[in-house]
Amino acid sequence: MRPTILVVEDEDALATLLQYNLEKEGYSVLLAGDGEEALVSVDEKLPDLIVLDWMLPKVSGIEVCRRLRQKPETRNVPIIMMTARGEESDRIRGLDTGADDYVVKPISMSELAARVRAVLRRLRPGLAEDEVRIGDIVIDRVGHRVKRAGKEVHLGPTEFRLLDYLMRHPGRVLSREQLLDAVWGSDVYVEARTVDVHIGRLRKALNVPSTDDPIRTVRAAGYALDVAR
Ligand code: CA
Repeated sequence: MRPTILVVEDEDALATLLQYNLEKEGYSVLLAGDGEEALVSVDEKLPDLIVLDWMLPKVSGIEVCRRLRQKPETRNVPIIMMTARGEESDRIRGLDTGADDYVVKPISMSELAARVRAVLRRLRPGLAEDEVRIGDIVIDRVGHRVKRAGKEVHLGPTEFRLLDYLMRHPGRVLSREQLLDAVWGSDVYVEARTVDVHIGRLRKALNVPSTDDPIRTVRAAGYALDVAR
């Protein structure tokens, strides 16, 4: 599972250049040409990080940022803002916009790649490493093993992928549709209820004595992994 980055930029040449360079760094890249398109894209598939231009047609970058920060499903998505030198106000320097970091145009690709890595490491520690611990759950992605409170947990392949995805997005509410896309793939038809069934199995498997249920059900929204760090 390669991390997905949504690049929102209205200048085609720059968008293509960003896509090329970020793909070379091992990311999967989605493009949006204006703010409206960006919001639709995020609704369809939640990216792991957004590289967002400040000046955009239709809906500005700041407005996109503001709207994403208002919705529980997108509140925590990491955002790196791109700004032209003249636009670099105190506001963006202080990141009052809700962005997590910013880069100044003309963009240095190596600087952007470093910022992306740093933001992902800081905000999505569970995304890239082979072995990740969240609270008392440890997932070993190479050995395909899971431990809870030191005890081996046996999971079926679907439950393993489900837990893997939840651990990549701790604390974030994930809708059934997002989980379906991530775990089963968007080209497979599976009923949303199937997610509930596998979440049930995962819960049961993770139910090690003297531990709490780490999966929170959010009514009408989906599920979130909540483990005290
Ligand atoms: Ca622009």
